[in-house]
Amino acid sequence: NGEIEFDNVNFSYDGRTTALNGVSFKVPKGSSVALVGESGSGKSTILRLFYRFYDLAEGQGRILIDGQDIRDVTQKSLRQAIGVVPQDSVLFNTTVADNIGYGRFGSEPQEIEDAARSAQMHDRIMTFPEGYNTIVGERGVRLSGGEKQRVAIARTLLKNPPILLLDEATSALDTSTEKDIQKALQNLVVGRSSLSIAHRLSTIASADLILVLKDGQIAEQGTFRDLVANK
Ligand code: ADP
Ligand code: ADP
Repeated sequence: NGEIEFDNVNFSYDGRTTALNGVSFKVPKGSSVALVGESGSGKSTILRLFYRFYDLAEGQGRILIDGQDIRDVTQKSLRQAIGVVPQDSVLFNTTVADNIGYGRFGSEPQEIEDAARSAQMHDRIMTFPEGYNTIVGERGVRLSGGEKQRVAIARTLLKNPPILLLDEATSALDTSTEKDIQKALQNLVVGRSSLSIAHRLSTIASADLILVLKDGQIAEQGTFRDLVANK
């Protein structure tokens, strides 16, 4: 499972201004859709609605997972089906390994290590994110923003959800970090349905479908080739 559909979705935060206006698209099982568009165009609203931070009013369209309206799915099974990699990951003040496994009761150390490896974090598994080891009371090297993001990616790999919501960081990262994140993201995205607020060229260029949002509507859509060829 893992097919997503937005069917003529309309949404307003305040009842006056429009955040989304007649948005329809499908994410077939296992495919990747990249959301691009100016700030305020509606990208985050799409992710928030899908995660049910807000619910659609009656008659304002439907959001479906595998043909089922998400309002008819329990909050628990929705959260189990979806993995979220936010822009800035907040980590707990414990080891990288514990952060990856946190709340995933019964995960084997080997599974945690495999997830860390897929995110190129296996060398840092005993590091504390802020560099302060509260167990032995030592100061060490802290994780960079990109490394923290890879911990979040490893955590989601361990969760193994069929659907991903990704919000890529806008901040410029150095090139080596960028390559490691790209690799980790590729390992995460493969075989899953993903909906990304995309900033990386690699994410946009490799997406199965790009949706260009403008004022809450899909202004253009297609593959990278389609969109570039149209210019
Ligand atoms: P993007 O993610 O593309 O920057 P958003 O989905 O955040 O765009 O915003 C779409 C529209 O909804 C914008 O006009 C924005 O001002 C408005 N909006 C976003 N979040 C809120 C909110 N929490 N309350 C009121 N309006 C909001
Ligand atoms: P869990 O680890 O409990 O299964 P998830 O992995 O689905 O939860 O989500 C990780 C964290 O990200 C949760 O604390 C959740 O509240 C938060 N989150 C969910 N949706 C968003 C979002 N759109 N933007 C930012 N954070 C989110």
